[in-house]
Amino acid sequence: MIADTLRDRIRTGGPISIAAFMTEALFDPRHGFYATKDPIGAGADFITAPEISQMFGELVGLVAAQTWLDMGRPGAVKLIEMGPGRGTMMSDALRAARTVPGFMDAAEIVLIEASAALKAVQAQTLGPSGAQIRWVDRLEAVAPGPSIILGNEFLDCLPVRQAVRHQGQWHERLVGLDPQDETGEAFAFVLGPPLAGDSDLIPARLRDADDGALVELRPGDRQVIDQLAARFADQPGRALFIDYGPAQSEIGDTLQAIRAHKKQPPLEAPGTADLTARVDFESLIMAGKSAGLTCYGPEPQGAWLTGLGLEARAAALSQSQPGKRSEIARQIWRLTDKEQMGELFKLVCIDSADLPPPPGFSAG
Ligand code: SAH
Repeated sequence: MIADTLRDRIRTGGPISIAAFMTEALFDPRHGFYATKDPIGAGADFITAPEISQMFGELVGLVAAQTWLDMGRPGAVKLIEMGPGRGTMMSDALRAARTVPGFMDAAEIVLIEASAALKAVQAQTLGPSGAQIRWVDRLEAVAPGPSIILGNEFLDCLPVRQAVRHQGQWHERLVGLDPQDETGEAFAFVLGPPLAGDSDLIPARLRDADDGALVELRPGDRQVIDQLAARFADQPGRALFIDYGPAQSEIGDTLQAIRAHKKQPPLEAPGTADLTARVDFESLIMAGKSAGLTCYGPEPQGAWLTGLGLEARAAALSQSQPGKRSEIARQIWRLTDKEQMGELFKLVCIDSADLPPPPGFSAG
């Protein structure tokens, strides 16, 4: 059990970082939340935009195909997805992108997936597409060349660290065992030593916050930016990430656990719930720009989908399947309404230097 392993680790070596706790809980190869099962869908733990409506992946696919045209139709382009889940977005994207002549002949599909269980689901979903698909563990493992990179709800599950401002200094917030708990088994947050180095990971806007403030550090985002900068240095590339979080860096603890569509205490039962934290789009974009990348967004998901013609696509779908009219209207509402996913979910586009602006973004 993951909880036992983590307790042993804490008893021997002292409190661990929240990132270490998350990594184990999500990706332990035998018992991790993603490693063992398929948690995505209405009857499972959480649902995502591509699982709500086929139109989501279709519009993403059209953007991918347009990007290939904008690159000057290279003879080979890697279409890479990070964290493809059930493979639904890629499957819908390919169906739409196929309408652009030549795209499918050029596209090489590469999936980056940590979970063996989800790889199996992806193979099944994408089998009928007839596309050649490869799986790799990391972006660095993809051969050089022009690339279009997609990631929906990928950044939010990259492990985060937290820091608390205490007597004028940032201290890492760690996970230990609760001394007040009679069983001695319960996990609890504890204040760790002052942050040594790493202070550039604290969101710039929040560095001088008052005592008591809690901030989140996202080392995983920086890694992704570094990988993109390396990849896009001499080859055209575009990365499109869709995720949830504020447009500007905010103070506060956003670590959350979700099981069966309900929030759980985040430290209660590692491995049995999804653990995510809000993406800090401001810091992500700042990191991208300082790595020399061209960044657009964050663009709210509702505005982006509407701008790309969601309504027209919905009208065409409703016409071919009149029985589904109200279901399609409900899908649009869930994807675009301000109280649903329309505003909290946002897109960021990170490009190499030589591409025209991406479709659907209002400003650079
Ligand atoms: N994009 C899908 C799934 C989102 S859930 C959808 O929108 O439905 C997050 C996905 O990212 C899962 O497939 C998970 O296994 C994968 N994942 C998370 N961290 C990863 C990592 N570091 N490397 C590879 N895959 C990862």
